[in-house]
Amino acid sequence: DVVLHLGVRGARLGTRYVLLLATDHTESRRLDEVRRDFIANISHELKTPIGAVGLLAEALEPAADDPDQVRRFAARLGTEASRLARLTGEIIDLSRLQAADALNQPELLDVDRVVAAALDQNRVAADAGGVTLVSAGDEGARVYGDEALLVVAVHNLISNAITYSPPRGRVGVGISRKNGVIEIAVTDQGPGIPEEDRERVFERFFRIDQARSRNTGGTGLGLSIVKHTIQNHGGEVKVWSLVGKGSTFTIRLPEASEKPLTGQIRLPVD
Ligand code: ADP
Repeated sequence: DVVLHLGVRGARLGTRYVLLLATDHTESRRLDEVRRDFIANISHELKTPIGAVGLLAEALEPAADDPDQVRRFAARLGTEASRLARLTGEIIDLSRLQAADALNQPELLDVDRVVAAALDQNRVAADAGGVTLVSAGDEGARVYGDEALLVVAVHNLISNAITYSPPRGRVGVGISRKNGVIEIAVTDQGPGIPEEDRERVFERFFRIDQARSRNTGGTGLGLSIVKHTIQNHGGEVKVWSLVGKGSTFTIRLPEASEKPLTGQIRLPVD
């Protein structure tokens, strides 16, 4: 996708030479396409709950004399409003993450703390779904990063693992360290992810089974938020899966050395 600019110069002077300019537009075209798709997806995703809110509002008036109906419609309105709030929140998070290549002020963080916070946020959901959370920490594991962003990333993986767990399923969360890499692994005993979808689950709005996933209340943005957060931290996120047995999502981050990367620079004193 290269545009060639061709010109002939110096013709009037009798000398002729050809000026050839090549500009590669591939990357900017691709980004334009990604942006267009994102906006088209957002519009599509927002239309469903907004449409539902409109219909429910119309249905309320004629149902005014029936308190049961009013209660049902009010509950549905609440559900749609929560969905809209979650969707807009995640869209904003994702566009912020995409706009930033790297973190502003990374801090030295205890990975144990990050994982513990993400686990705590998921305990109610695990209890409600009859899922057991099992975790193994690593006291010395440290990374440079943004604590709030990393907690969201680990939270999203645990929350998915719970959502897709069978009743009485177990979700394991482990931290390990090897060769300067910290690994956070989240394992479930859910339906697994078919090979052809393993890359695609990290795309915005992608859901394996649209109908089933919609019932789980998901937005299809959770894993792309994980991917962008981890990329901004100089790491990567991967998935291993066996269909019918379960999945393991792994976040890999560079281990922080004991000394901070940036420190005060002392000028020599004479
Ligand atoms: P959602 O909000 O729909 O969960 P995600 O981006 O977090 O969005 O995930 C995208 C899709 O990947 C999900 O809709 C689901 O189909 C699939 N998925 C994510 N995590 C798991 C998992 N642990 N087990 C099986 N499928 C999963």
